[in-house]
Amino acid sequence: MLGWRLELNRVPTRDQLQLRQIPLPSTCCPICNCHEETVNHLFLQCSFADSLWKHLLQWCNLPLTKPSNIRDLLSFHKDQFIVPRKRKHVNLIILSYCWIIWKIRNDSIFSNKNPSFRFAAKELKSLSYLWLKNRSQKPCMEWSKWCNFNF
Ligand SMILES: [Zn+2]
Repeated sequence: MLGWRLELNRVPTRDQLQLRQIPLPSTCCPICNCHEETVNHLFLQCSFADSLWKHLLQWCNLPLTKPSNIRDLLSFHKDQFIVPRKRKHVNLIILSYCWIIWKIRNDSIFSNKNPSFRFAAKELKSLSYLWLKNRSQKPCMEWSKWCNFNF
């Protein structure tokens, strides 16, 4: 659902809320508090997102590249350097990445929680594995293989 809303640019980041004249205490990114919160900032440019993205690439043995916009992020799994049999998995991991950032952003605003990179990195593996396990019709791969991206 979040991926679909991202594609349509319908995620209620603070810049979008401001356009709708919703009163806000600030338009700053609640994770870094350094820049205006836009979809591109939150999911791509924020230092927190940047660190989590690098972690994702390292986990999936992918070269250090960075999508320049949300459309590129959501179609990243189609790139040539990702072997075809792993593309669906990379797509699932990228959607998990988006969900985790959105959840951390909301926890920061609504529950006053400090963003934790360690939590996000662990959650990226466990949440994507849970989604894989619940969506796959084949017997699911072992957790250790998933953690090593070795399948
Ligand atoms: Zn930020």
